[in-house]
Amino acid sequence: MQTLVLDHPLVAHKLTALRDVRTESPTFRLLSDELVTLLAYEATRQIRVEQVQVHTPIGLADGVKLARPVPLVVPVLRAGIGMLDGMARLLPKADVGFVGLARDDETLVASTYAARLPADLTGREAFVLDPMLATGGTLETVIGMLVTRGAAAVTAICLLAAPEGVARLAEAFPDDKPVPVRVVTAGMDQGLNDRGYIVPGLGDAGDRLFGAI
Ligand code: URA
Repeated sequence: MQTLVLDHPLVAHKLTALRDVRTESPTFRLLSDELVTLLAYEATRQIRVEQVQVHTPIGLADGVKLARPVPLVVPVLRAGIGMLDGMARLLPKADVGFVGLARDDETLVASTYAARLPADLTGREAFVLDPMLATGGTLETVIGMLVTRGAAAVTAICLLAAPEGVARLAEAFPDDKPVPVRVVTAGMDQGLNDRGYIVPGLGDAGDRLFGAI
């Protein structure tokens, strides 16, 4: 599994503002949206294209267009919903699937309560949106679902990651497997606390996006 931590002043600036406990939901949503678009730019660097030619007003130009089948974007409910618009801005024609997982506060084990995915993903690239790669349990489950359905490549886009989660995914999806798995994130933090939160992190991403319910 490959991990890419974006090193860019705009990314760092927006991430710092997201982390700030004083940042309220409306601004948090806006910053997440912008940050995801920046992450998506890197996450789609290897997206498949095909050669085309177009007529300009002056002549014929060689170019590319995104190959078919269109990619699948999968926000993980609920916090991943806050990342969907930022991703769709770059990939407006992508299909969107949904997976819902809830983490048990005691065991930290995530269980699936919703899954709406195409049965066959043969040849398709998939992008999973989950703001926090903490223990890695959620992403291991979701990426596993996509690989089982035949996805050609899976890229997880995360606002923040912890080394524990990255290590778990690297073990679950080693580089010698036929389906390449990548994680693209704005930051790699110190680690997890005893409640499974990323330290220093930004708190509960779902609560900060949508409120504590
Ligand atoms: N989920 C969150 O929302 N925040 C964390 O720090 C870890 C998991």
